[in-house]
Amino acid sequence: MSVIKNKYTTWPFFNEKKLLTIAGPCSAETEDQVYEIARKIAETGVKIFRAGVWKPRTRPGSFEGVGKEALPWIKKATRDFGLKSTVEVANRQHVLDALEAGIDILWIGARTTVNPFAVQEIAETIKGTDIPVLVKNPVNPDVDLWIGAIERLENAGITRIGAVHRGVSQFNKSVYRNRPEWEMAIELKKQRPDLLLICDPSHITGKRELVPLVSQIALDLMFDGLMIETHITPEEAWSDARQQITPETLKELLKELIVRDEFP
Ligand code: PEP
Ligand code: MN
Repeated sequence: MSVIKNKYTTWPFFNEKKLLTIAGPCSAETEDQVYEIARKIAETGVKIFRAGVWKPRTRPGSFEGVGKEALPWIKKATRDFGLKSTVEVANRQHVLDALEAGIDILWIGARTTVNPFAVQEIAETIKGTDIPVLVKNPVNPDVDLWIGAIERLENAGITRIGAVHRGVSQFNKSVYRNRPEWEMAIELKKQRPDLLLICDPSHITGKRELVPLVSQIALDLMFDGLMIETHITPEEAWSDARQQITPETLKELLKELIVRDEFP
């Protein structure tokens, strides 16, 4: 219980259901898109706004993000609507740009967590800042690699770290975009009960209609929060159009989710 209390006091972003929610588009696209989504997300009770600025695309030739130009859009929108901001960083320059822009929380993506050199570079760049960092699991189901990335940040003096479970790559087709491998997240929780554990049902499912079910499964497994991709016009999104939900759907979903005090 004291561990949980500690999480609540060191991460002052929980909603009234004691759920740490992060929402926002897969990618920042335009200044207006960022502003409108942030405005609507603030009405849902979500406290943290996410938007990818540098996008790690699997194949070249697709939209790779607006780049640092979008950072002031995110900063302004989140300031105006009382939200905290988070962006993905994958290298030293991303970190420097995000810190300079005053982004509140950094997140490390699944394709970066697999690479100790990249994580070490990020850790060394943020040393001395104590900025909160979210660390997604690596694309392969390797708990040690996930915890190793977290330890590199801790060794650099970072104290507020959240682990984000986003599923793992698979060769065979399945209903999921990235298989959840819930055992992997449960193992992380077993080894590091002090860390915040957040589920990203958007990248696990790849389909907006499955986001509510996977969100509820995560809460039944005692996850602390959710990161949900949200867009005002999801079908027209420049990346991950199939999995994003509208702020209206998000609001309904957050209302309906059952948050448990203990295992059911
Ligand atoms: C994202 O959050 O948009 C993203 C690229 O996620 P992941 O690193 O989990 O693939
Ligand atoms: Mn995405």
